[in-house]
Amino acid sequence: MMTQRRPDRVLGGPHDAFWRYCEQGELRMQRCGACQHLQWPPVDAACERCASTDVRRWDRLSGRGHLVSWCVFERAYYQELPVPWDTILVELAEGPLVVANPHGFRPGPALFGARVEARFTVCADGAGEFHLPVFALVEPPAPADG
Ligand SMILES: [Zn+2]
Repeated sequence: MMTQRRPDRVLGGPHDAFWRYCEQGELRMQRCGACQHLQWPPVDAACERCASTDVRRWDRLSGRGHLVSWCVFERAYYQELPVPWDTILVELAEGPLVVANPHGFRPGPALFGARVEARFTVCADGAGEFHLPVFALVEPPAPADG
Protein backbone atom coordinates (compact mmCIF):
# COMPACT_ATOMS: atom_id res chain seq x y z
CA MET A 1 0.00 0.00 0.00
CA MET A 2 1.32 3.43 -0.89
CA THR A 3 2.16 5.82 1.89
CA GLN A 4 -0.40 8.59 1.95
CA ARG A 5 0.97 12.07 1.50
CA ARG A 6 -0.38 14.68 3.94
CA PRO A 7 0.02 18.38 4.55
CA ASP A 8 2.81 19.21 6.99
CA ARG A 9 2.07 18.58 10.67
CA VAL A 10 2.62 21.03 13.48
CA LEU A 11 5.84 19.81 15.11
CA GLY A 12 8.05 20.74 18.05
CA GLY A 13 7.78 20.34 21.81
CA PRO A 14 4.77 18.32 22.93
CA HIS A 15 3.69 17.68 19.34
CA ASP A 16 6.83 15.60 18.82
CA ALA A 17 5.99 13.57 21.93
CA PHE A 18 2.47 12.93 20.63
CA TRP A 19 3.79 11.61 17.31
CA ARG A 20 6.42 9.44 19.01
CA TYR A 21 3.64 7.69 20.94
CA CYS A 22 1.66 7.25 17.72
CA GLU A 23 4.69 5.57 16.18
CA GLN A 24 4.46 3.03 19.01
CA GLY A 25 0.75 2.51 18.28
CA GLU A 26 -0.31 4.45 21.36
CA LEU A 27 -2.81 7.29 21.48
CA ARG A 28 -1.73 9.51 24.37
CA MET A 29 -2.63 12.96 25.62
CA GLN A 30 -1.20 15.18 28.33
CA ARG A 31 -3.16 15.01 31.58
CA CYS A 32 -2.94 17.97 33.91
CA GLY A 33 -1.53 16.97 37.29
CA ALA A 34 -3.58 19.64 39.03
CA CYS A 35 -7.11 19.37 37.54
CA GLN A 36 -6.80 16.09 35.53
CA HIS A 37 -7.90 17.78 32.31
CA LEU A 38 -6.74 16.06 29.10
CA GLN A 39 -5.15 18.52 26.71
CA TRP A 40 -6.00 18.38 23.04
CA PRO A 41 -4.27 19.58 20.98
CA PRO A 42 -1.02 19.33 22.98
CA VAL A 43 -0.03 22.36 25.04
CA ASP A 44 3.48 23.74 25.38
CA ALA A 45 3.60 24.98 28.93
CA ALA A 46 0.32 25.20 30.80
CA CYS A 47 -3.03 23.46 31.20
CA GLU A 48 -5.67 25.00 28.94
CA ARG A 49 -8.24 24.75 31.75
CA CYS A 50 -6.46 25.72 34.99
CA ALA A 51 -3.11 27.11 33.78
CA SER A 52 -1.08 24.67 35.89
CA THR A 53 2.33 23.96 34.42
CA ASP A 54 2.11 20.32 35.54
CA VAL A 55 1.37 18.91 32.09
CA ARG A 56 4.24 16.48 31.67
CA ARG A 57 2.22 13.30 32.20
CA TRP A 58 0.99 11.51 29.07
CA ASP A 59 -1.93 9.15 29.64
CA ARG A 60 -2.54 6.30 27.23
CA LEU A 61 -6.12 6.45 25.98
CA SER A 62 -8.37 3.58 24.97
CA GLY A 63 -8.66 4.80 21.38
CA ARG A 64 -12.40 4.15 21.66
CA GLY A 65 -15.05 6.72 21.06
CA HIS A 66 -18.11 7.53 19.01
CA LEU A 67 -18.90 9.57 15.95
CA VAL A 68 -20.51 12.89 16.84
CA SER A 69 -20.23 14.75 13.53
CA TRP A 70 -18.56 14.79 10.16
CA CYS A 71 -17.76 17.05 7.23
CA VAL A 72 -17.01 16.24 3.62
CA PHE A 73 -14.79 18.76 1.87
CA GLU A 74 -15.79 19.25 -1.76
CA ARG A 75 -13.18 21.93 -2.43
CA ALA A 76 -9.47 21.08 -2.49
CA TYR A 77 -7.67 23.13 0.14
CA TYR A 78 -4.49 21.06 0.03
CA GLN A 79 -3.04 19.40 -3.03
CA GLU A 80 -2.27 16.33 -0.88
CA LEU A 81 -5.93 15.77 0.00
CA PRO A 82 -8.12 14.64 -2.91
CA VAL A 83 -11.79 15.61 -2.77
CA PRO A 84 -14.31 14.62 -1.66
CA TRP A 85 -12.31 14.47 1.59
CA ASP A 86 -14.06 12.93 4.60
CA THR A 87 -13.38 14.22 8.08
CA ILE A 88 -15.04 13.11 11.28
CA LEU A 89 -15.43 14.45 14.79
CA VAL A 90 -14.94 11.74 17.41
CA GLU A 91 -15.71 12.06 21.09
CA LEU A 92 -13.19 9.82 22.84
CA ALA A 93 -14.32 7.65 25.74
CA GLU A 94 -12.06 9.78 27.97
CA GLY A 95 -13.80 12.98 26.85
CA PRO A 96 -11.69 14.90 24.33
CA LEU A 97 -13.13 15.74 20.91
CA VAL A 98 -10.78 15.02 18.03
CA VAL A 99 -11.01 15.79 14.32
CA ALA A 100 -9.74 12.84 12.30
CA ASN A 101 -10.31 10.81 9.16
CA PRO A 102 -12.53 7.75 8.89
CA HIS A 103 -10.78 4.46 8.11
CA GLY A 104 -12.69 1.99 5.94
CA PHE A 105 -16.02 3.79 5.87
CA ARG A 106 -17.67 6.99 4.66
CA PRO A 107 -19.50 9.04 7.28
CA GLY A 108 -23.18 9.82 6.97
CA PRO A 109 -26.36 10.32 9.00
CA ALA A 110 -26.90 6.58 9.52
CA LEU A 111 -23.63 6.42 11.45
CA PHE A 112 -24.39 9.18 13.94
CA GLY A 113 -23.25 7.88 17.32
CA ALA A 114 -21.48 4.85 15.82
CA ARG A 115 -18.73 3.40 17.96
CA VAL A 116 -15.25 3.78 16.52
CA GLU A 117 -11.74 2.88 17.53
CA ALA A 118 -8.33 4.25 16.62
CA ARG A 119 -6.00 2.70 14.07
CA PHE A 120 -2.68 4.03 12.89
CA THR A 121 -1.94 4.49 9.23
CA VAL A 122 1.46 5.34 7.78
CA CYS A 123 1.55 8.76 6.13
CA ALA A 124 4.28 11.16 5.09
CA ASP A 125 4.73 14.90 5.12
CA GLY A 126 7.70 17.19 4.56
CA ALA A 127 9.30 15.90 7.78
CA GLY A 128 9.07 12.23 6.75
CA GLU A 129 6.88 9.26 7.60
CA PHE A 130 4.58 9.25 10.60
CA HIS A 131 1.76 7.15 12.03
CA LEU A 132 -1.53 9.00 11.81
CA PRO A 133 -4.42 8.06 14.10
CA VAL A 134 -7.59 7.38 12.11
CA PHE A 135 -10.85 5.80 13.23
CA ALA A 136 -12.56 2.60 12.09
CA LEU A 137 -16.04 1.39 12.94
CA VAL A 138 -16.17 -1.14 15.77
CA GLU A 139 -17.53 -4.31 14.21
CA PRO A 140 -19.60 -6.09 15.05
CA PRO A 141 -21.37 -3.44 17.13
CA ALA A 142 -20.46 -4.10 20.74
CA PRO A 143 -23.23 -4.78 23.24
CA ALA A 144 -24.09 -1.90 25.52
CA ASP A 145 -21.69 -1.47 28.41
CA GLY A 146 -22.91 -2.54 31.77
ZN1 LIG B 1 -5.41 21.79 34.75
